[in-house]
Amino acid sequence: MSDAMTPAELVAIIDRAFDSRSGSSVRQCECGRTFFNPSMDWDWEDGEIEKLVNDPNATALTYAVTAVVLDGRYFVSDCRCWHERAIKVGEWLCANQDSVAEFFAEKRRVLAAKLIRTPEIIP
Ligand SMILES: [Zn+2]
Repeated sequence: MSDAMTPAELVAIIDRAFDSRSGSSVRQCECGRTFFNPSMDWDWEDGEIEKLVNDPNATALTYAVTAVVLDGRYFVSDCRCWHERAIKVGEWLCANQDSVAEFFAEKRRVLAAKLIRTPEIIP
């Protein structure tokens, strides 16, 4: 069986792994595009929804706006810029999966060595 993944599969996996785990009424993506959810009962200011609806740089969603945090920057999960970045990140991880696995194995060895050197204090 091939371990090749489609771009959509890569985006879905990266989303699940890096999702901020919070939804909101409106959020601006790292690229500057705004996403909002006018169909749920959010606490909107007067005229806020109308302004967003008429903003050509804003996209209405039928569900809460979720984001992915990468390098401390928020990318809206539904934004095309995030999908392009997620595909690159996913492809890099897949192309380097043995090295990534070795990194975490080495991290575990380093942490275990630190614990062994830590004196045990018995009360
Ligand atoms: Zn974006």
